[in-house]
Amino acid sequence: MNPAHIEIDLNALRHNFSQMQKLAPKSKVIAVVKGNAYGHDAVLVAKTLDKADAFAVARLEEAVQLRESGITKPILLLEGCFNAEDLKIASQNECHTVIHCQEQLNDFLNTKLPKQMNVWLKVDTGMHRIGVQPEQVDTFVQQITSSENLQGNVNFVSHFYMADELTSKITHKQLEKFVAVTSKYPGEKSLSNSAGTLYWSDAHFDWIRPGISLYGISPRSDSHGQREGLEPVMTLKSQLIAVREHKAGETIGYGGNWVAPRDTKIGVIAMGYGDGYPRVAPNGTPVYINGRRVTIAGRVSMDMMTVDLGPDSTDKVGDEVVLWGKELPAEIVAQHVDTIAYELVIKIANRVKRIIKD
Ligand SMILES: *Cc1c(COP(=O)(O)O)cnc(C)c1O
Repeated sequence: MNPAHIEIDLNALRHNFSQMQKLAPKSKVIAVVKGNAYGHDAVLVAKTLDKADAFAVARLEEAVQLRESGITKPILLLEGCFNAEDLKIASQNECHTVIHCQEQLNDFLNTKLPKQMNVWLKVDTGMHRIGVQPEQVDTFVQQITSSENLQGNVNFVSHFYMADELTSKITHKQLEKFVAVTSKYPGEKSLSNSAGTLYWSDAHFDWIRPGISLYGISPRSDSHGQREGLEPVMTLKSQLIAVREHKAGETIGYGGNWVAPRDTKIGVIAMGYGDGYPRVAPNGTPVYINGRRVTIAGRVSMDMMTVDLGPDSTDKVGDEVVLWGKELPAEIVAQHVDTIAYELVIKIANRVKRIIKD
């Protein structure tokens, strides 16, 4: 008996990595492992992806954790360091840092760092979240270059915000702006996340930065990884802990928001929002049991959820249930929950055991 757990398929992870590499054969790969590798276990993923040229994380603590576990490849801090103290720790740990604003530039210029650092200047090509404006680039490059803290050339990074929309003109504009601002400099360039790598072959530059695609999930919410040559790495599973006869007209669970349209059987699954399954998943959200999809009936609670198995079902207590993964793409569940699969996988709770398949 195995209640809420995830299976992590390392062969699928390696497969997805090589798919991304094949799409961008001239580029090096920064494997994005922020957020504990999107819920998959950052140390495990980094150790498995020994062909990656570098890793990227969002928080200094994530980088330090990788270093402490013996990862020696370059680690890029995607938003840089948030104060001078952190910058020193990042330098000590041989991280690559991003500089995206004046405060970070000041820290870099005014702090005596224990080791020289590789710097990636983040350019705002249209997302308007972080990054220096195109007209500021020359000044930033000059100042960073003047610092003894700098290792090598200043590198350049920018981020797409609509690369998952295949007919959008925005991505072309971002691409043009990135080239216009950075091409005169010798430093290395990186623009593409998963969507850029999958759908915009002109945007690969020196380094691609895939995240979600490594985990077998499509960056497009109207698609799924298996349709794009990817294999889901995480499968979220549990089991039935009760199968109950249920009369037409009766409700189930908190709020009584589901009413049985006919006599049926209800399956109770050991899985709830305490495991990271979204509480907002409405009636009708699919769940995979014994070769077919059934649907959620009643509100998801902390440790349990209920599905309508149908009047003729033969499912038994102990039968395996897949919430998302190989048999049921997380992207499809995400559509029902009105979110993206990124959010589903990253929210897996600590109490959910990880079982590694290799
Ligand atoms: C998270 C992130 C990525 C990876 O994006 P995916 O859509 O998961 O491929 C790449 N670059 C930056 C700056 C990011 O923050």
